[in-house]
Amino acid sequence: MRDLSIKKKVRSLILTLYAAMLVALLGSLSLALHQNWQLKLQSSQNEMARQAGIGNFILEHAVINAAKALGNAQQSLQKTLANGPVSMLKAHEVLQFHLDEHNAFINSDYKGLMLYIDPQGVLQARTDHYPSERFDFSNRIYFERLREHPEIPFTIGPLIKAQTTGDWVFHVAVALRDNKNAFHGVLAQQIRLSDITQDLARYIDTSHAAQIVTQTLDGHLALVYPPRLITKIGNGGINISYADFARRSSTPQDAFIWPAATGQGQRELVVGFELSEHFHLLTTAHRAMSDILQSFVKESLFLIGVSLLALLCLTVLFVRLSRVYDQFAEALHDSFSDALTEIPNRRALEDMLPRLLRDAIRTQQPLSVLFIDLDHFKHFNDDYGHDGGDVALKAVAQALQCSAKRPLDFVCRWGGEEFVIILPHTTEDAASKMAEGILQTIREIQLADGHGHSMRQVTVSIGVACTVVSLQGQGEHLILNADQAMQEAKQAGRDRVVIAHRPKQH
Ligand code: GH3
Ligand code: MG
Ligand code: MG
Repeated sequence: MRDLSIKKKVRSLILTLYAAMLVALLGSLSLALHQNWQLKLQSSQNEMARQAGIGNFILEHAVINAAKALGNAQQSLQKTLANGPVSMLKAHEVLQFHLDEHNAFINSDYKGLMLYIDPQGVLQARTDHYPSERFDFSNRIYFERLREHPEIPFTIGPLIKAQTTGDWVFHVAVALRDNKNAFHGVLAQQIRLSDITQDLARYIDTSHAAQIVTQTLDGHLALVYPPRLITKIGNGGINISYADFARRSSTPQDAFIWPAATGQGQRELVVGFELSEHFHLLTTAHRAMSDILQSFVKESLFLIGVSLLALLCLTVLFVRLSRVYDQFAEALHDSFSDALTEIPNRRALEDMLPRLLRDAIRTQQPLSVLFIDLDHFKHFNDDYGHDGGDVALKAVAQALQCSAKRPLDFVCRWGGEEFVIILPHTTEDAASKMAEGILQTIREIQLADGHGHSMRQVTVSIGVACTVVSLQGQGEHLILNADQAMQEAKQAGRDRVVIAHRPKQH
């Protein structure tokens, strides 16, 4: 019983230790993952803000340079207006000169055309060849705006597929007016999307698949990155639902997380933005949270792998520890218990006795010992064989254990056909009553051999010794006294109880 409870305690201790280490390991893993995720989210926001900043910067520069070149061409052509309307050839030469000068100055690979559109909106000149086709551009937004609003110095048009070249472009345009402010047409420079995105790709890690979009003040698109998204223009494929929020945002941070509704449901976007004060261009860059999470999981695989390995090692270690402990407990149990009757053996008594004696000395409560020996057991063995004898020994051991019910009572096989019961906190009177009870119980045992044939009844002789212990060594004397009393019971005819004389106090 005691063994069992210690075994249970050690097992639960091992389990608790395992659980604690598991919690510590998983706790530190989740803490590390949580912190890494916060860092990842922050760095993603920073990266989006940086990409939006770069997009805006490149676009702004393209617009400034185009505006400069247009300004120069505008001045030249306005001078010629004093001498009458601008001829197609003159316009072609002036535009070409200023575009070349501009391209040489900015040393850029930008290949957008410069155009002259007459007051009726008909294309009159283009820089790449002469004479130009007479396309009708009267419905172009930049054309209409400059014609209607003399106060506007220049305008930025929306991203469109150019009729002249078939490229995706947006226009920076200025009006041509004489000294009486009469409208003489529009000069426009195309800025090709491919030139801008090529520039952008030099600064942006394309593996991070951000979507970068620039909008003009009136909500027209000027930049779309990556270029493949361009095909989605007009059918709602480009998600810029957060543009208004970004434009109105007054937070010091130029990034935020946006819950966007898509065809597939709700998904979160990490958005960075940049607003250009002069041109009112809003550039935003976003990356889907799921995409960031995916790359985070990839980056965390090593950490998770190492932790799982540690978890596996820990589990294997504890399973082994538990097995070794089981083997140890079994070996310990075997060395302290009798193989035949499965009750404690004499060694267990020797282990237990000092503790029981200490307790008896401390409490000064009487300690009783019963020494029990089977009567004529040799004859029993002779009659029923060794196996039959074993059956009887087991039955008697069982009966003795059932008789000693209190938690501190201790029953053991002393050896052969002899048993000892130690009864702490038990008077001589109580012990002898218990011994009488045992005599009766054993008489009543119904024995049967391995074939089910009943065997004759067995009896025992019991010696009882009791004392209030005052010295440690008295324990052994007590057992000896009980043994002697048992011998007296044998001599007096067996199947009886004899109480030992109290040892003389020295
Ligand atoms: P008494 O009434 O005087 O005690 O006579 P007894 O025959 O019981 O005593 P004795 O000491 O002469 O014999 C003890 C016998 O117990 C001898 C031995 O064969 C038997 N015995 C001891 N251990 C075992 C055991 O493990 N199994 C079996 N079957 N018999 C055992
Ligand atoms: Mg004997
Ligand atoms: Mg005997």
